Amino acid sequence: MASKKRKKAAKQAEKAIKKHPKLWLTVLAIVLILAIAAGVYWYFFVYMKRDPSTEDNFGRGPSGEVSGELTIRFLELGNKYAGDCTLIKTGNTEVLIDAGSRQGSAATIVPYIKEYCTDGVLEYVIATHAHQDHIAAFVGTASEKGVFESFECGTVIDFSRTNQSETTDSGARSLYGKYLDCLQDEVRSGAKHYTALECVNEENGAKKSYALGEGIEMTILDQKFYREKSSDENNYSVCMLMTQGSRSFLFTGDLEKEGEESLAALNTLPHCALFKGGHHGSRTSSNDVLLQKITPETVCICCCAGSPEYSTDSAAIFPTQEMIDRVARYTKNIYVTSLATDVSYDPKAWNYTSMNGNITVTSSKTALTVVGSNNSTILPETAWFRENRTWPSYGVQ
Ligand SMILES: [Zn+2]
Repeated sequence: MASKKRKKAAKQAEKAIKKHPKLWLTVLAIVLILAIAAGVYWYFFVYMKRDPSTEDNFGRGPSGEVSGELTIRFLELGNKYAGDCTLIKTGNTEVLIDAGSRQGSAATIVPYIKEYCTDGVLEYVIATHAHQDHIAAFVGTASEKGVFESFECGTVIDFSRTNQSETTDSGARSLYGKYLDCLQDEVRSGAKHYTALECVNEENGAKKSYALGEGIEMTILDQKFYREKSSDENNYSVCMLMTQGSRSFLFTGDLEKEGEESLAALNTLPHCALFKGGHHGSRTSSNDVLLQKITPETVCICCCAGSPEYSTDSAAIFPTQEMIDRVARYTKNIYVTSLATDVSYDPKAWNYTSMNGNITVTSSKTALTVVGSNNSTILPETAWFRENRTWPSYGVQ
């Protein structure tokens, strides 16, 4: 029966073609007309109607949906020393990256964090590497409770390696040793603790990516110094990518050039709406190998601009000219937390004030805004910049 029907249909088709020998030409013409109409529609109603203000410097619009709302705060640390402390919040979930720059910073950052972390629980805590300007305030002082003691921590993710010793030459606990002790107390009271290496390998219950809700995800990125020894402690930095749908934010601690090369080689890095300037704006971080992949739209630097803390050589003082020269290809939107004042001939005697102050980046579905608690002036338009740095001619104008 079936084969009879098929034969009948074939015969009818043959007849139709004989009857209308130019039928295929008609079909082709209709397809062509439809294709042209679709092209015209796309040009006038999609391409011409796009909003260039939502596109970045490279003409790329948001490729997908941005979901939820995310707030990222770069904190001032209550003293004149460079260091990091970044508080990220979405819904009722907080992620704290580092607690610098000195043990006494706890007096400044703990009350600040409490303002936003109202339930006393930091769901995720990341300690990027074992330098004091990143871990000191986890410990605190005799009179100021550190971050670990002040908050309940859900999951703590820290460096897989360090060259630091747990004791000082005199046999006392070093700052790193004290950090380990406080961390152990936190684990005893229920915190989960994983190293970055456990995260990227998804070992012992650790995960590479953590869903924070509303399409927001935190991913621990891989880099070779989770496994290999480096003479530079900075290279052990835990690197994290936060994604809010199609919008991305990158945090690399104090990662240096070799680490950045590895980070760029081992991960598919996206265009980033925000990058925490590497290593306080050092000339040895935020290298082209990384920047050309992430093409940052906004760069926030945690440092005391112009401070002679590490060097009195202008070229090495944070934020460095070399770093600015590299970032300038992508964005002018550079923000800095603090500013050195009273810099004198004695390199140890200087003071500090706010530059932008505490920097708050709010990323909603429709926009990304940056507001400083002191002011929201971008670095190239500050008096300090005009006196100490230059904007390269090839830079974004
Ligand atoms: Zn540092």
